[in-house]
Amino acid sequence: MTVDFANLGADVPEEPVRTSPYEYDYFVIGGGSGGLASAKTASELGAKVALADFVKPSPQGTSWGLGGTCVNVGCIPKKLMHFASMFGEYYNDQQECGWETAQKQHNWKRMVDNVQKHISTLNWGYRVQLIDKNVTYFNYLAKLVDNHTISLLNKDGQEMKRVTSEHILVAVGGRPSFGGIPGADECCYSSDDLFSLKEMPKKVLVVGASYISLECAGFLHALQKDVTVMVRSIFLRGFDQDMADKVAEYMANEGIKFIRNSVPNAFKKTEDGKVEVKYTENGEERVEVYDAVLMAIGRNADTKNLDLEKAGVQLSPRTGKVIVNDYEQSNVENIWAVGDVAEGKPELTPVAIQAGTYLAKRLFGGSSQRMDYINVPTTVFTPLEYSCCGYSEEDANKEFGEENIEVYHTAFKPLEWNFLDSREASSCYAKVIVNLKDNEKVVGIHFLGPHAGEVMQGFAVSLKLGLTKAILDETIGIHPTCAEEITKLDVTKRSGITAEKTGC
Ligand code: FAD
Ligand code: NDP
Repeated sequence: MTVDFANLGADVPEEPVRTSPYEYDYFVIGGGSGGLASAKTASELGAKVALADFVKPSPQGTSWGLGGTCVNVGCIPKKLMHFASMFGEYYNDQQECGWETAQKQHNWKRMVDNVQKHISTLNWGYRVQLIDKNVTYFNYLAKLVDNHTISLLNKDGQEMKRVTSEHILVAVGGRPSFGGIPGADECCYSSDDLFSLKEMPKKVLVVGASYISLECAGFLHALQKDVTVMVRSIFLRGFDQDMADKVAEYMANEGIKFIRNSVPNAFKKTEDGKVEVKYTENGEERVEVYDAVLMAIGRNADTKNLDLEKAGVQLSPRTGKVIVNDYEQSNVENIWAVGDVAEGKPELTPVAIQAGTYLAKRLFGGSSQRMDYINVPTTVFTPLEYSCCGYSEEDANKEFGEENIEVYHTAFKPLEWNFLDSREASSCYAKVIVNLKDNEKVVGIHFLGPHAGEVMQGFAVSLKLGLTKAILDETIGIHPTCAEEITKLDVTKRSGITAEKTGC
């Protein structure tokens, strides 16, 4: 074999000559959904990129690997536990379907071990992707020195390195709030701890009444825990309240207890390791002891020790989030923010990913495409799942005027439940909200039933394309499914005719 020394290495692309005075073109703070997507895209487009990700342990000492909230302590373990819990939900159905299944007994540790095994593979996958995409990874806590300089600290707070970058992306997400309630930090778990707990005792209090609270309460109950939810005011604030009440009603019928109009005042560890909870219910002081307490009362933007003010970045005084314009740009020209830390945006993984990707394409790929935050679909993975896209009934009435809004609805029972004595009558429900003044354009779709997320994804596409009620009526349903109910709506709420479905 002869070697052509003259052309050796000719196909190896030369490093572009850097004219920038900064070490990096793009420095991403936060290796979660938004940060990773943005860093990888920017690097693919030829930018010199670095990313810092560091997980501060929870007050209970829980920590995790690369990937951020969704992968480690959010969507992924939540959905896996929701899936695991459905086998408990279906246990009675199985018997009625003729399966002679073994004793109904759940092994928490086995589930957690398998969930964590899966997460470890994802953590590793993200490390490999960063190497493949040529993104320099720092497992350090970042903070700003000025609007082009980042200081990288180790776990003891020692500065390990100082770097400069032309652009900086803040994608630090948020962390659970403990509400400053006395004893909460020491006595309570949050979603940061729940998914890796080696054991979960029987009697559990879940504080809060939104996404995280209701989802966790749902799967804990189906995994044979004795669950009580403490509700301060309403269920699922920001969602259609008619739907939110139906979600909670289903959970109550399943055996989950609710303490309404109630807030915790203090937590204390008992001698036998349980948690004493002092709380106010309808104005009256009460005390109760639980084996474990899960705080799910919201999340705070993780901007406290980032020193963003040293770069002059404006934060919302109420939420601590970065105030951004329609281009995810902060008030400082070269500092950007995406994901949960960006003020006023939906706190959802696909939103963070898309915003981060589009931003990188605008900065380094010549694109002008902006993120569209309208009609973002979402699902609440409660025992009976709830998914929606577009306006709630309340918001549609406010936006378009009650007289211009028509609501088509149906209460139904999935075909598969009809031969099961254990299943409730018509607990599933769908409604479609249309604007009468705009050719019955669909402005909101809501669905409560099995696999709601799978049902809504396709309808979300049609909403983006300007779906009208006439198109829905023309659409042939797939029979027998639950999703077809959305194509067969002919009863309006205004008519007062029952929404209960009979027959096919
Ligand atoms: P994150 O994913 O939070 O990533 C931020 C990263 O930055 C973290 O790794 C953090 O440790 C790191 N960091 C913070 N400060 C620094 C610093 N100074 N230096 C270096 N690194 C730092 N969304 C859905 O779409 N579907 C769901 O089903 C869903 N379920 C959820 C369930 C739960 C229990 C929770 C908590 C959230 C859920 N979410 C869900 C929301 C979703 O997880 C978030 O919207 C998403 O993870 C936000 O991504 P992000 O990139 O903004 O931030
Ligand atoms: P939210 O901010 O949505 O809800 C907080 C809940 O806690 C509310 O019910 C609130 O009641 C209650 N609360 C607040 N303070 C107190 C207090 N001191 N005492 C008692 N109750 C209190 O937070 P979540 O943590 O549920 O969710 C955060 C975000 O994460 C969501 O907005 C969502 O975008 C994302 N997420 C998405 C999921 C999905 O896509 N399936 C799943 C989970 C999370 P009140 O209504 O009275 O204010």
